[in-house]
Amino acid sequence: MENRIRIAVDGPAGAGKSTIAKEVAKELNIDYIDTGAMYRAIAVKLIRTGTDYNDAEALAKMLEVTDVDFSAGKTYLDGEDISGIIRTPEVSALASPSSAIPAIRYKLTDLQQAMGERKSVIMDGRDIGTVVFPDAEFKFYLVADPDIRAKRRTLELQEKGEAADFETVKADMMQRDLQDSTRSFRPLKKADDAIEIDTSNMSIEEVTKSLLDVIRK
Ligand code: C5P
Repeated sequence: MENRIRIAVDGPAGAGKSTIAKEVAKELNIDYIDTGAMYRAIAVKLIRTGTDYNDAEALAKMLEVTDVDFSAGKTYLDGEDISGIIRTPEVSALASPSSAIPAIRYKLTDLQQAMGERKSVIMDGRDIGTVVFPDAEFKFYLVADPDIRAKRRTLELQEKGEAADFETVKADMMQRDLQDSTRSFRPLKKADDAIEIDTSNMSIEEVTKSLLDVIRK
C-alpha cells in the first residue's frame, strides 16, 4: 500500500496519452488502464441492446447488468473481449455524447477507483486528475496541435487496416473534443496541479522520458 502510486494522464483525443501511458507502465512495471476504452465499451453495449442513453430508466436497467473491465491491454464487456471493435467510427461517435451522462460516469468512475485501490496504476482519460484520482501522486495533461493529433490518429487507424482519411478524422476529433470539454458534468479539464506537456514536436521517447523524469525524481 505504502508504495502504491497513481499516475493520471489526461488530455484531448490524439495527444498521445495511451501511447505514452503504455510506455511508462512498461518502464515502471505497473498496470496501464485505458479509461476511454471503458467508455467505448458502454457505447458498444448501448448499440447492442438498442438502449437510448437519454432514457434514464432504460439506461439504469442496462447499467445494472453491465460489467466493464480493462485488463492486460484488453477491453472486456460482460466478460467478452471486445478490443477489436471499440475503435470503429460508430462506437467513437457514440462514446463521446454517452459519456456526458452522469449515470454512466458514476458507474465507470467507481470501477476505475477500485482498480487503483490496491495497486499502482497509470490511467489515461479526460477526468483522471480531476475526478477519478484527485489525489494522484502524479498528474500530466498532454496537448498537441489539432493537425498533428489528427494525423497521428489517421495513421493509427490506417495501420490497423481501417479506412481513414485525414479530413474526416480531424472533423470527428474536433467534434469529440468540443463535446468533451463543454459537457456540463465532469468535462475534459486540466487539473490545477497537472503538468502540461505539448507533444506536438516531441517523439514518443522524448515524452515518455519527460514523464519518467518527473516520476523518478
Ligand atoms: O480516449 P478515447 O478517445 O478512446 O475516449 C473515447 C471517449 O470517451 C472520449 O471522446 C470521451 O468522450 C470519453 N471519455 C471520457 N472520460 C474519460 C475517458 C474517455 O469522457 N476518462
